[in-house]
Amino acid sequence: MTKQFSRRNFIKTGVAGALSAAALSDVSSASTLAAETKTSVANTQGTKPAILGGEQAHQTGWPAWPAWEPKWDSEIMEVLDRRVWSRSKLVTEFEEQWAEKIGTQFCLAVVNGTNALSASFMELNIGPGDEVIAAPYTFSASIFGILYQKAMPVFADIDPTTYQIDPEQIKAKITPRTKAILPVHICGLPSDMENIMKIAKEHHLYVIEDCCQAHLSTIHGKPVGSFGDAGCFSFQTSKVLPIGEGGAITTNDQAFKERLYSYHNYGYATTVAPGTYAGSIHSFRLANKIRMAEYQAAIGLCQLRTLEQQIAVRNENGSYLRKRIAEIPGLRPVRYYDGVDRVSYYMCPFIYNPDEFKGLSRDKFVMALRAEGVNASNGYPNDPLYSQGIFKETLASEIYQKIYSKDQLNFDEFKERNSCPNLIKTFETSVWLDSAGMFLGSKSDMDDIVNAVIKIRDNAEAIKKAG
Ligand SMILES: *Cc1c(COP(=O)(O)O)cnc(C)c1O
Repeated sequence: MTKQFSRRNFIKTGVAGALSAAALSDVSSASTLAAETKTSVANTQGTKPAILGGEQAHQTGWPAWPAWEPKWDSEIMEVLDRRVWSRSKLVTEFEEQWAEKIGTQFCLAVVNGTNALSASFMELNIGPGDEVIAAPYTFSASIFGILYQKAMPVFADIDPTTYQIDPEQIKAKITPRTKAILPVHICGLPSDMENIMKIAKEHHLYVIEDCCQAHLSTIHGKPVGSFGDAGCFSFQTSKVLPIGEGGAITTNDQAFKERLYSYHNYGYATTVAPGTYAGSIHSFRLANKIRMAEYQAAIGLCQLRTLEQQIAVRNENGSYLRKRIAEIPGLRPVRYYDGVDRVSYYMCPFIYNPDEFKGLSRDKFVMALRAEGVNASNGYPNDPLYSQGIFKETLASEIYQKIYSKDQLNFDEFKERNSCPNLIKTFETSVWLDSAGMFLGSKSDMDDIVNAVIKIRDNAEAIKKAG
C-alpha cells in the first residue's frame, strides 16, 4: 500500500510552512513536526512481533516513490508533442538549475551516474599507471571509470563511526603514482570534504566526488559536489532526485566542462549543437555519446520544484528518528562530521550491537524490522569490492599485464594490500533504513519505526528462539 505524496502531505506534516533557509540548514530541528503530531509511543511490552505472527508496527504503507504530481503530466506531453526529443533547451535549463543548487559554475547532464563518473576520470586524464584512492563502502559503479582508464583503484578504509573514507587512511595510501581521490558520500552522508580537500591540495591530486546518493547534502552550508574537481550525480529512480535514468557532473573548471561537453556529444566541437548532422562536423577527439534527452530533463525540472521541500521533510524526520533511536541501547546512529548541516537521507544508517538484543543476529533483526512494515536492509553485502570478480578478471587481463608488474597484479596480494577491516566490520553491523518515500512520511510514521525497534528488542529472545 502506498500513499500519494503531494503538497497536501507537506501541509499535513506541517513542513510546508517551515521552508525558511533556517529550517533547511538546521538538521537537528524537529520543532515543526513536533508541533503538529504528538508522539505516539506504544506500549510494546507483551505485544507480539510481526515476524512471530503479531500485528505490524506500521500498517499504512509509505509515500509513493518516485514522487510525482499528476498536474505535471501535461508538461511531459508537451515535450513529446514538440518533437524535440534530443538534448535542447530543457536539458540546458536543467543543467543551469542543478549548477545553481550545487553552487558550481557549470553542470553537464548525462545519461546516468556511472557515466558521470567515468566521463570525469577520462576528462581529468586519469590513465594507465595512475592510482586513484577510492572509498570502499560502495558498489562497482563508483570505480568502473577508473578501470576504463586502465588506472588502478587503491582502497582506503572507512571510519566505522561515519561510514566515510578516512582522511588518515587516504594519507597512508598516497604514492608518487596517486593522481586522484574518490570520496563516495555513502547513504547521502557527506564525507570529510574539508580535510580531503586539504590533502588533495597538498599533494596536487584531483578529487572526484561520487554524490550519487547525496543530493543537496551540505557541509557548513556548502553542497557536496562543489568541493572537488567534479561532482557526479545520479538521477536513477531510487535516488533522491529521480528521473528514471540520468546523471550530472558539476564543476567550476570551464576547460574541464568543455571537454566533458565534447565527450558527451561524439567528440564534436562544443559549438556543434546536438542533433546537427549536416556539413563539416567531425570528431576531433576520442569521446562517447551520453546525452540526456529533453523529456528526461522535463521530468527533472518538475522534480526540482519539490526537491528542497522533500529534503526539508527528510531532515526533520531523519533527525527526529536518529534522536529517538539513539535512546535505544544497541542501535547507534552513524556519526556526522562537524559542519554537516543537511543530508539527503537517501538512507539512514545505524550500527547494530547484537549484545544489546539478547544476541539476536543483525540479519534476523533486519528481517524482523521488515516484517513490521519498515523498509530496512543490511546495506551492501559482506563482499568488499576489492575481492570481487571484477578485480580478479581485470588484474588477469592482457591489457593490465601490459601496463603493470606481476606483483601489482597478483590478486591475493591486491586483496591483502586493499583490505579494509573497518569496512568488513561495517558490513556485519550496519542497518540501513532505506528511504525512497519512507522519510517523506509523517512524524507518527517515524514513531512506528521506533516502536517496531522497541518491540523487537523487548521480544529479542523469542525471535532468536523461533530460528
Ligand atoms: C547509483 C549510484 C551510482 C551509479 O549511478 P547510476 O545512475 O545508477 O548509473 C554510483 N555510485 C553510487 C554511490 C550510487 O549510489
